[in-house]
Amino acid sequence: MNYQKPKGTRDILPVETTVWQFMEQTGRKIAGLYNYREIRTPTFEDVSLYKRSVGDTSDIVSKEMYEFKDKGDRSLALRPEGTAGVVRAVVENGLLNSALPQKFYYFSNCFRYENTQKGRYREFNQFGLECFGAEAPQADAELIILIDKYLRALGINDCTLLLNSIGCPECRAEYNKALRAFAEQHLDDLCFDCKRRAVENPLRMLDCKVEKCQEVLKSAPSILDYLCPECLAHFTELQKLLNNAGVKFSVNDRLVRGLDYYTKTVFEFEHSGFDGKKLTVAAGGRYDNLVGEIGGKPCAALGVGIGLDRVVHLVNTALVEPEELYYIANTDNINIEKIIPFAEKMRSQGKNVEINLANRSFKAQMKYANAINARYLIVVGQKELDDPQSIEIKDLLTGETSLKF
Ligand code: ATP
Ligand code: MG
Repeated sequence: MNYQKPKGTRDILPVETTVWQFMEQTGRKIAGLYNYREIRTPTFEDVSLYKRSVGDTSDIVSKEMYEFKDKGDRSLALRPEGTAGVVRAVVENGLLNSALPQKFYYFSNCFRYENTQKGRYREFNQFGLECFGAEAPQADAELIILIDKYLRALGINDCTLLLNSIGCPECRAEYNKALRAFAEQHLDDLCFDCKRRAVENPLRMLDCKVEKCQEVLKSAPSILDYLCPECLAHFTELQKLLNNAGVKFSVNDRLVRGLDYYTKTVFEFEHSGFDGKKLTVAAGGRYDNLVGEIGGKPCAALGVGIGLDRVVHLVNTALVEPEELYYIANTDNINIEKIIPFAEKMRSQGKNVEINLANRSFKAQMKYANAINARYLIVVGQKELDDPQSIEIKDLLTGETSLKF
């Protein structure tokens, strides 16, 4: 039997994991600069958590979720996104009872039963950040600036930032009414899903990927005309703050997110480098009502998810510092056992060292050192054993030798 990975999953091999480590290290560093701290939550949760938070009518819950029953007949789901689990964890552990704001970040694999294509997988990885207890637009601005800084630190300078406000439940109720009325007049031109969305959750239509629907919805009313004074002031201030910070954006009143829990600010960083197609690399916004809905004391909140499986294609790999490897070769008359103390000494100095584990001839070791991309070569023969001061380190890249051992 030849086993193959399940559809929509990938093996990330060592040539690529160096870039993944770079994305993670850079993310941790930049999150830390803004006082975000790491949180780790379970890979699966009670299915009801997602139905409640992500929303029954979202595609993620209605079509894409990996649901299963465990042997104890519990209904569980593999995490389709990171926010719900983090909210559950901070509420359950009472973290929101301490001084607010509190900020958390995570690197989590997520699972969605999607049609797979470049940048769209069934298991994918998010770098997520969540901030609790900050109502002011300064928090939204800070989070967006952080993401901008993160992408630039990876060498990605050509993303487009799209910004919108989808208001609070009050202004959205009015807007949904207007949108539903609009949809009723265009029912024949909408896809099957949008016909359903028009009844259940009209805002969701704006997120439809069917071209014909997008065409029709171009003339739909704009949420920005329905914002209440508070939501409008929040949105205006956020734009001012981003302008002050020199972060470029464009307001797009058709932007909504794939999840039902957002309020006020929503944003996306988009990139066009996917076989000419535009894809969202980071998406987020405010979810002031989610904590309350999940059973916590109501608490303003906002967050973002960065799709690392998309970002990885865009990273400037010249920024990734290569790991330097040392190869210690033993000449044919020297037993490998004599080499081990040298290798251990170097490893205790933090150097990455490979030795002759396969009992190769000297000549074959040279080939091997080359094949594994060793940067430095050290040859140990009787002379070097007698006088370790004479050990030479050869830089295979520059051809230079040095005596510093
Ligand atoms: P899209 O509109 O592209 O389907 P989404 O609205 O479903 O995105 P979110 O739930 O907001 O996406 O997730 C945040 C980010 O996670 C996305 O912007 C994207 O970068 C990434 N992402 C989402 N789904 C996938 C997937 N199936 N494969 C890889 N990355 C994904
Ligand atoms: Mg999606």
